[in-house]
Amino acid sequence: MSTLLEALAATFPADFFTTDPAELQEYGKDWTKVWEPKPSVVCFPRNTEEVSKLLKLANSLNIPVVPSGGRTGLAGGAVAANGEIVLSLTRMRRMDAVDELGATVRVQAGAITEVVHQHCEEHGLTWPVDFASKGSSQIGGNIATNAGGVKVIKYGLTRQWVLGLEVVLADGTILELNGALEKNNTGIDLRQLFIGSEGTLGVITEATLKLAPVPKKLDVFLFAVADLASVLRLFRKVRSNKIPLSAYEFFTDKCLARLLKHRAARAPFERSYSHYVLVEVDGGEDLDGFLASLFEEGLVADGVMAQHGGEAKQLWTLREGISESLSATGLPHKNDIALPIAELESFVTAFEAGMAERYPGWEICLFGHIGDGNLHVNIMKPDAMNKSDFLAKTHEADALLFDLVKAHHGSISAEHGVGLLKRDFLGYSRTPAEIALMRATKAAFDPKGLLNPGKVFG
Ligand code: ZN
Repeated sequence: MSTLLEALAATFPADFFTTDPAELQEYGKDWTKVWEPKPSVVCFPRNTEEVSKLLKLANSLNIPVVPSGGRTGLAGGAVAANGEIVLSLTRMRRMDAVDELGATVRVQAGAITEVVHQHCEEHGLTWPVDFASKGSSQIGGNIATNAGGVKVIKYGLTRQWVLGLEVVLADGTILELNGALEKNNTGIDLRQLFIGSEGTLGVITEATLKLAPVPKKLDVFLFAVADLASVLRLFRKVRSNKIPLSAYEFFTDKCLARLLKHRAARAPFERSYSHYVLVEVDGGEDLDGFLASLFEEGLVADGVMAQHGGEAKQLWTLREGISESLSATGLPHKNDIALPIAELESFVTAFEAGMAERYPGWEICLFGHIGDGNLHVNIMKPDAMNKSDFLAKTHEADALLFDLVKAHHGSISAEHGVGLLKRDFLGYSRTPAEIALMRATKAAFDPKGLLNPGKVFG
């Protein structure tokens, strides 16, 4: 440890690292509240050369490194609990000028998602990866975790919006992958291996992002419906009418109740309903007839359309404020699963029945990007139970959940990633042959196993 600190002091400027206990606590964790952070030092490089030098040094001393972005992850991917070096990208926030001709922008990994959105918006362009934590999440972290979010139904996951990557390997080697090319058909696409690898193969230092035009006209609706079957019936109707969606989200009354309590906000309708659907239509024309038919056919019980941007934002807050509200009003055990849409209803019925039988009285808050088949399953800690009992029981409950996910041909993580949280369950979604190939890939990039050890594969 003292060798490391002496070497850091001899190699870098004085403000390059800190061992301040409060900083170690802060930079050693993400939004999961399961592990006690315990890194030995936090480093703040300003450029790629410093990242390379730091990784070379860590490699020569055999000290593990945890790459760290905005730390808004929900799978423990950025947790440092074993004396690691935390490599924070926070100081690397440079954004180059937007290339309007190529519709791209090159940024450093520490650029904040929302700031990149604003930077591009002046040019009528956007990086269409969008989620509730965009105010603090960083581009490098989004790419390392292949982040999802609320617009995936239209735009797809992060990996579709990254043209080029600059990456530093565990031994300090700097790779420049794919530049700003849309088309480059020259063998295995190494860039894509890093996207979603959760910092286990290399540290992303810069990226060339692909941009899309800012949508011209977005219409936002909130509908109230009777049950999950109605959420899916409405989705079928929207799809069969070829309504151009940029979001199809849902949440239950339990989520709404916690949100209203946390935010001291007003309910969206006079009476309460069991399920709510937020629909965002991108460039829809002549929606009046379609909307009328929803009521005539009894597909929705109530509904409201945002009349201006402020109202649209309010409606979005009802959905995007849920995750924060669950954490503020209790302790949620979070899961993030994907299912084929056709299996959603039978899955939820079986899951709720299984939970009610084994854990009677537990509150389950369901919400998510239902148009993508992505459910956020939040089991709330009963008030009378202590945290460690709850964590042990939810670990058991996860086996029930993941057995059902597997039986319904789903995935144990739709968008949050594996990190430490899902590591022991990876076999539910990937075969032994796949996991063996992942391990071999890891060994090729990081033979000493020093980059984000213990994450994804264990
Ligand atoms: Zn989500």
